[in-house]
Amino acid sequence: MSSTPDNDVPDPAVRTYLRTHRARFLDDLTHWLRIPSVSADPDRAGDLRRSANWLVAALRETGFPVAEVWSTPGAPAVYAEWPSGEPDALTVLVYGHHDVQPADRADGWDTDPFEPVARDGRLYARGAADDKGQVFLHTLGLRAHLTATGRTAPAVNVKLLIEGEEESGSPHFAELIAARAERLACDTVIVSDTGMWSPDTPTVCTGMRGLVDGQLDLYGPDQDIHSGSFGGAVPNPATEAARLVAALHDEDRRVAVPGFYDGVAEPTDQERALLAELPFDEAGWLRTAASHATLGERGHTTLERIWTRPTFEVNGIHGGYGGPGGKTVVPATAQLKFSFRLVAGQDPARVQRLVGDWVAERLPAGIRHELVFWGAGTRPCLTPLDHPGLRSLVRAMGRAFGRPVRFTREGGSGPAADLQDVLGVPVLFLGISVPSDGWHSVNEKVELDLLLKGVETAAYLWGELAADRRDGRW
Ligand SMILES: [Zn+2]
Repeated sequence: MSSTPDNDVPDPAVRTYLRTHRARFLDDLTHWLRIPSVSADPDRAGDLRRSANWLVAALRETGFPVAEVWSTPGAPAVYAEWPSGEPDALTVLVYGHHDVQPADRADGWDTDPFEPVARDGRLYARGAADDKGQVFLHTLGLRAHLTATGRTAPAVNVKLLIEGEEESGSPHFAELIAARAERLACDTVIVSDTGMWSPDTPTVCTGMRGLVDGQLDLYGPDQDIHSGSFGGAVPNPATEAARLVAALHDEDRRVAVPGFYDGVAEPTDQERALLAELPFDEAGWLRTAASHATLGERGHTTLERIWTRPTFEVNGIHGGYGGPGGKTVVPATAQLKFSFRLVAGQDPARVQRLVGDWVAERLPAGIRHELVFWGAGTRPCLTPLDHPGLRSLVRAMGRAFGRPVRFTREGGSGPAADLQDVLGVPVLFLGISVPSDGWHSVNEKVELDLLLKGVETAAYLWGELAADRRDGRW
């Protein structure tokens, strides 16, 4: 189901509307971007509230009959809804965030990160792409949808949930959506906090990996001891840490923890073929990775490895003497920091249990261990390629971009999976950011043409979804 359908023509009424309202839209976005809503900085709590209130006002002006601030123990989220009024209409929840990463001119920005500058077809500011620009595109998209269709309310029930702590790990998000699950009830979630392959290759992401990470501390002798007097006759925690790490992958570089792959959804032939359609430049990718060769699970391409396969990585390994010269000891302690990326079919709690059992079984007497996981882990999410919502999104994007739409996945992990699990619906990703946009880095920007293509995609999406519902596709 790759590529664009036949009747993929753009709507001239939408295009005209976007042309005449583009300047005002960018002006409004610029105002929002000036609010330094940095969730990591406790001194910015007031700015987070200001940002949330600003968005509520903007959504009311857009026409949302309901737009409100939802407070959390941390930074506030924003919720809005606009019922369609049609019986039996689909309900779609848009997810994004209004907080941003820290940014300081002194980090190397060419201009003030909180004083947006439009230059060479780009808008430079912290949050331009991640994520205020991609949230705000829905306001103009919705207006264009209404004007072009002559409607007074959207063709589907639209809900928006814009959180304020995404850049700080969404510590209260799962709790928030569980507590508000009834109001958030929907048929699908549209996440607008991702990107696409490149300016010339529009793509739709179909899944994200999950995450289990933690730390393992190993304790041997009560203190560092003489390696001549005692070494070779007592267990060495640094050696045991290395043995564990070495045993974690088999000869094919698959994770060797028994049961780890149980239930893993293997990429289908169709998915592998679709991934192979992407214009992937491995040498360029390696440069971005600052690495000198690819290496991973045997039998899979690089894109399959980072998107469709679970992995284990050592994030840090420490133990014993690290100062200048030598020191002949058996160290008292060693430490591993590690992460597993998970794919659909894997459950973080089960992986934690399997890893815990595996570690406990392999350590010899005389090594005490403490294994800590950072929270409950993040679940993977994956939307099947034949899901009707995906079809609607691909059609909308194809009409806006006038190019075939391809499919990607995301190797990282995020709160989208919470939405999938708590609300029990599939997650679709509408993102127009490109890899050069500088997320979390200096000189973050958004490409204005792509931002407007995102607006146009959003303008078509509601009608496409309603048509698929009407035609009985879901
Ligand atoms: Zn983001």
